Amino acid sequence: MRQSKLFTRTYKEAPKDESSYNAQTLMRAGFIDKLAAGVYTFLPLGLRVHNKICKIIREEMDAIGGQELLMPALTPKEVWETTDRWAHFDALFKLTGGDDKEYALGATHEEIVTPTVAKQVLSYKDLSLSVYQIQTKFRNEKRAKAGLMRGREFSMKDMYSFHPNEESLNEYYKIVQKAYFKIFERLGLIDQTYLTYASGGAFSKYSHEFQTLSEAGEDTIHICQQCKIAINQEIIEESKGCPHCASTDLQAQKAIEVGNIFKLGTKFSAPFNFKYRDAEGNERPVIMGCYGMGPSRVMGTIVELAHDERGIIWPEAIAPFQVYLLALNQDKEADKLYEALKTAGVEVLYNDLDLGMGEKMADADLIGCPYRILISPKSLAAGGAEIKRRNSTESVIVDLKKVVDYLKK
Ligand code: ATP
Ligand code: MG
Repeated sequence: MRQSKLFTRTYKEAPKDESSYNAQTLMRAGFIDKLAAGVYTFLPLGLRVHNKICKIIREEMDAIGGQELLMPALTPKEVWETTDRWAHFDALFKLTGGDDKEYALGATHEEIVTPTVAKQVLSYKDLSLSVYQIQTKFRNEKRAKAGLMRGREFSMKDMYSFHPNEESLNEYYKIVQKAYFKIFERLGLIDQTYLTYASGGAFSKYSHEFQTLSEAGEDTIHICQQCKIAINQEIIEESKGCPHCASTDLQAQKAIEVGNIFKLGTKFSAPFNFKYRDAEGNERPVIMGCYGMGPSRVMGTIVELAHDERGIIWPEAIAPFQVYLLALNQDKEADKLYEALKTAGVEVLYNDLDLGMGEKMADADLIGCPYRILISPKSLAAGGAEIKRRNSTESVIVDLKKVVDYLKK
């Protein structure tokens, strides 16, 4: 894409009404726009990143048999009353419809998915199964100062699994855990992300969070130095050491909860009276699990982790464009290379704006595409285009005709 056609612009200064690094930088670089505290528009660059994160998540959920659906965000009061959460879920945004009935904007979807799946599942032959969606969620968060990391409107992948018995849930729970690690691996977050024991609720002693180390995090986790599993601060007293290996050699760190998985048991199937018939024809309760992950929070987390003083350093897997192209007095050569890259299917953002070299370079670093390609009299004299990775200070000169091949390998 030509930057001259991109309707967004970059800013030198950070916005004044935003205190988090991730939102400040994403706003400066034209990825998001702020409408209100915790409420952001995803501009074209930001949407490209968000879509790529969602694609990775979707692929890994599909790979473990998740069936994608899309549930309503407008949800009637009755379903929340069925589970007694209308009164007790403080972050629910509530509103009244034209029919004078009350509604909540979806903050999570156990109350919707459970009766929906119950209508389709009658016998043990229909189980187990899992469904998921990637959807906008609404929560009346008290503090919404962390940019994309804590929105009042934000995106969530929420998956729900339904099982005939506990063994089946336990088996699937482990499968999801592995799939989550695959996602964090693909997102470039694997080294900083810890499986973390957290409080569980009625059905299991613990739930698990996926916590990514960052000073910008709101959580404190205690990492076991023996087995590299962590425990959330909130349960550390109860657990007295690592729940996995019992070691007491723990190290506290700040972290961001990027996902969590939960064994729900019959917490939701019971109030909705969701039962199935087993092989003998007896009615049995359905056992559930739920698995959340926040694509928009993940995006904010990556910006918090992967940047330098000049801007963002996107991992290739989710960069808005792979290449940032710019030229110094060599527009014809740059135009040609731009067309060649596009034809070859390389995602390229071409800074064809009427700006000085310094400003173009600053944009390149701020926007943070993995490769910067510069065509200048100097690079041509040296034999072609100068290619530099965003996270490196070294560059190479590549013959203009070989740039596509170079990038492809
Ligand atoms: P937290 O403890 O951070 O408030 P949570 O435990 O309430 O989150 P869940 O309700 O399980 O989170 O939501 C699943 C996932 O959705 C979280 O792991 C996180 O990645 C994301 N998420 C939750 N709340 C927000 C929010 N306000 N803004 C952005 N992402 C969020
Ligand atoms: Mg939590």
